[in-house]
Amino acid sequence: MKLGTRLEKIEPYSPSEYNGMIRLDANESCFDLPKEIKAEIADKIKSVEFNRYPDPYASELCDKFAAYFNIDPENVVAANGSDEILSILFGAVLDYKSTVLLASPDFSMYRFYADLYGQNTVIYNKPIMTQSDCSDLFLKAKNVDLTLFSNPCNPTSEGIDAKDILNALSETDGIIVADEAYMDFWGESIIDKIYTNKNLIVLKTCSKAFGLAAARVGFAVADKKIIEMFKKAKSPYNVSSLDQAAASVVLSHPEYLKKRTAQIISARNKLYNGLKPLLTSEMRMSEPKANFVCIHTARAVHIYEKLRKYNIAVRCPEKNILRISAGTENETETLLTTFGKVVKECDRQ
Ligand code: PMP
Repeated sequence: MKLGTRLEKIEPYSPSEYNGMIRLDANESCFDLPKEIKAEIADKIKSVEFNRYPDPYASELCDKFAAYFNIDPENVVAANGSDEILSILFGAVLDYKSTVLLASPDFSMYRFYADLYGQNTVIYNKPIMTQSDCSDLFLKAKNVDLTLFSNPCNPTSEGIDAKDILNALSETDGIIVADEAYMDFWGESIIDKIYTNKNLIVLKTCSKAFGLAAARVGFAVADKKIIEMFKKAKSPYNVSSLDQAAASVVLSHPEYLKKRTAQIISARNKLYNGLKPLLTSEMRMSEPKANFVCIHTARAVHIYEKLRKYNIAVRCPEKNILRISAGTENETETLLTTFGKVVKECDRQ
């Protein structure tokens, strides 16, 4: 029996175990949905015919999503999280053995899917604390089949200016994928530029600002020809009726979504401003654009482990990076007190 050869060198994503911890490690919204919206979802779910397969094209959901972002539904495909979009992109839409340009650090699942499906990767190592300076990344984009990055970036929380991406799009025939999972927190989306750039794919998710990580709903937005490829390759019933119902309801409340997003941004600013005076001279933290902050420090692993002992989960995606998501007022207060204590403890060791 010969199985699993392709998996031998694959580094799987390692989600945390929590056991009652404060969860500041997954960049989810720190606010659950309000009761009234949950009740509306429950009502909608009551009318789901559980014996029937879901709508394969999630038409109502895509219509609501398109209306929210003011685009045409024919330019949208929905999936089981934007993770599934990545899987379809690397596994089916891209030709075999394409060359893919990724940045480092960036969202780890890009590399995961590229390796899993045997694509060739070129890795651009980002200089730290440069905010939007990605000119070197885009120079390399001219020679590859596809360039993919998160904007704002997970884990650095820095952003690439729209004009630089548009410039890069005009200088290459390759595909450029802008993963805007956290863009609601920054407001520099290029989603409307799919009409003038046939080589642009924009990824979106309901898991962050929209507070629906439990539902697993993500989208790709692009020229119709590319969207048709995703539709051809995806499994027929990839978004469950329950998830379609939940996300359709949430997307019908644009005013609520805008208010919530503003609350998360304010929670993120409290975290950022609270952490600033606690940093030691070797630590660096750039101004965050997403719903989390990123601290560059040689003590990242140490602080990460100590915080876990105090029941706080943060993420340490690389040995010198700490990523901390915005929390509720109480969560942030606990984090800040504990962070200060842990840094002092580290100083003594
Ligand atoms: N893109 C980025 C940049 C992310 O950080 C994440 C989740 N952490 C995803 C995509 C995946 O999101 P989803 O929940 O839609 O699968």
